Amino acid sequence: MFNCSAKHGYICVKPEGEVRPCCRWKGFSPPLDMFETFEDILDYYQKIIPTPSKTWPQGCISCYNDVSSSRKSEMEVLNEIIEQTGNTIQYLEVGFDNVCNMNCVMCSTQYSSRWDKLYKDNKEFLSKYILEYNSPPLIYDNIIRLLENSDISRLHTIKLMGGEPMYSKASLKFLEWFTNKDVSNIKLKFTTNATIFPEKYLDLFKKFKCVIPQTSIDGINEINDWGRNSNTSFKKIEEVVGLWNEYARQNNNIELRNNTTITLVNMEHLGTLSKWLSNYDQFTIKQISIAAMTKYISPLVVSRKIRQLLWQEQNILYNDMKLYTRHETLLNAHQQQGYPVKNVIDYIK
Ligand code: SF4
Repeated sequence: MFNCSAKHGYICVKPEGEVRPCCRWKGFSPPLDMFETFEDILDYYQKIIPTPSKTWPQGCISCYNDVSSSRKSEMEVLNEIIEQTGNTIQYLEVGFDNVCNMNCVMCSTQYSSRWDKLYKDNKEFLSKYILEYNSPPLIYDNIIRLLENSDISRLHTIKLMGGEPMYSKASLKFLEWFTNKDVSNIKLKFTTNATIFPEKYLDLFKKFKCVIPQTSIDGINEINDWGRNSNTSFKKIEEVVGLWNEYARQNNNIELRNNTTITLVNMEHLGTLSKWLSNYDQFTIKQISIAAMTKYISPLVVSRKIRQLLWQEQNILYNDMKLYTRHETLLNAHQQQGYPVKNVIDYIK
């Protein structure tokens, strides 16, 4: 049975300016500037997504696949956090741009302006490996217009995507918009590559109900430096992680998390990373996911035998890491390769 609460309160806006009822939606997504308020967006999706219903909308194919394979779907997640009443925004997920200060090996033009530049400077060579990205129109003004025109009294979560939100002027300006607002009921989540400690925003963070920076550290020392493919050294990351940890110790509304992406670069070094992270007592959740989209660096491209060797030869301390397995691309990639894989670790082992 299809019954999803997303259309009652969840809005996801991509840098391209498309509006979706959630991040997993695969159907047509209209442009942001078509709407006056967030209520209009939710009304639009309430009209085109009938629920509860025996049939699934085409746009919900990802959740349908999860439910059919007995995996926890995004629908289930959203049904727990979005009230199934009304049409006022409860959760806003927004990526303003691809602005980033790094060229991480598993990233791409779509999520990093540094990759975008690299691509444009080396188009002939790189076009074999990564896709061209056309910079989208800026959506900042449109998001603020909607925030100002809409009822945001039920807004309980904001999730900022990147690029690197702590480096993107639009993302930071967006945070500043909340300076004089009551955010004591709002949870703020964002991903960050841990190269920037946003001193200027620390007082603002204290006003939120909860702030969840999710760092994306994939390795330590030279493993980090190879993976980041940029000028910022691991020393800088250690410094920033130390500052976040101290800040979280002093402010109990800060929850630190790390999500590691497994690539061919760091695959045999997860144990050292996990051990290093255990020096920072405020990192409560450690997740791992796998690079599946960037084929040339993905563990999916090497044979099972080599994966097993890499996995066995290291002293893995991954037991305290939470597996992040609802990654659709990963699961598709597994299925395409014919492996009946239940989760990431099963796959690599
Ligand atoms: S069923 Fe899944 S894809 Fe469809 S709207 Fe709900 S969360 Fe999004």
